[in-house]
Amino acid sequence: MPATPVIEIRDLHKSYGTLDVLKGVSINAQKGDVVSLIGSSGSGKSTLLRCCNLLEDSQQGEILFQGEPVRWRGAGQTRHPADRAQVTRIRTNLSMVFQSFNLWSHMTVLQNVMEAPLHVLKQDRASVEARARALLDKVGIGDKADVFPAQMSGGQQQRAAIARALCMEPAALLFDEPTSALDPELEQEVVRVIKALALEGRTMLIVTHDMRLAADVSDHVVFLHDGRIEEQGPPESLFKTPQSARLKQFLSHAQ
Ligand code: ADP
Ligand code: MG
Repeated sequence: MPATPVIEIRDLHKSYGTLDVLKGVSINAQKGDVVSLIGSSGSGKSTLLRCCNLLEDSQQGEILFQGEPVRWRGAGQTRHPADRAQVTRIRTNLSMVFQSFNLWSHMTVLQNVMEAPLHVLKQDRASVEARARALLDKVGIGDKADVFPAQMSGGQQQRAAIARALCMEPAALLFDEPTSALDPELEQEVVRVIKALALEGRTMLIVTHDMRLAADVSDHVVFLHDGRIEEQGPPESLFKTPQSARLKQFLSHAQ
């Protein structure tokens, strides 16, 4: 019997008013899978990621976390998750890393990393601090624990944001264009961390414009076009022998 996916999306539809953004998207990620989402700006990549961890409502289709379907009340435009405890469980297990880091500027790096485990998960301070410091070491900024985000480079801030996501001990990480705001040399610092996480067997959904990153780390790549999956497959075939004209065109413009 196949293992239960960590995240499974079935035929998801999402609109903002009359704008249909996701038009029946299905994806799943098994434990240890790295799934990359690629596609033009506006194709629905961020929306899909935000629907996965219930930062956005969706109008139709199913979302399952470790085999457990999200329970809804209402339907269509009035559909919302029915169970707050379930939403919290899913959200804390699918930690998101954003393009713009979103660190809290009034807190030190260490406080940023400790905040949610302490105050959302209500974990013991000493063990959270030990874990947070170990994670900062792991992403190469152990010496930055006591500085504020504004005192760090973008690459360091993004690595702090990754440490913060990891400190929740999530079942999967969701990355939304984690390197897009960075200069090329800082981008590589973050790419190295993401590659190390992939080698560790972390389950990850990665929205990226970086085709080399997608090719290097992914088990599966999904090309979204206009709210639908236009093509998907293992990176070797998707990048080397794209089938659809749209993917061919997209790849010819990507570096
Ligand atoms: P991508 O991440 O692939 O660039 P998005 O998921 O951000 O695409 O956006 C998909 C579409 O949804 C775009 O047309 C965008 O303008 C629209 N959109 C995204 N967020 C909102 C929102 N909060 N309200 C209205 N429209 C939105
Ligand atoms: Mg986006």
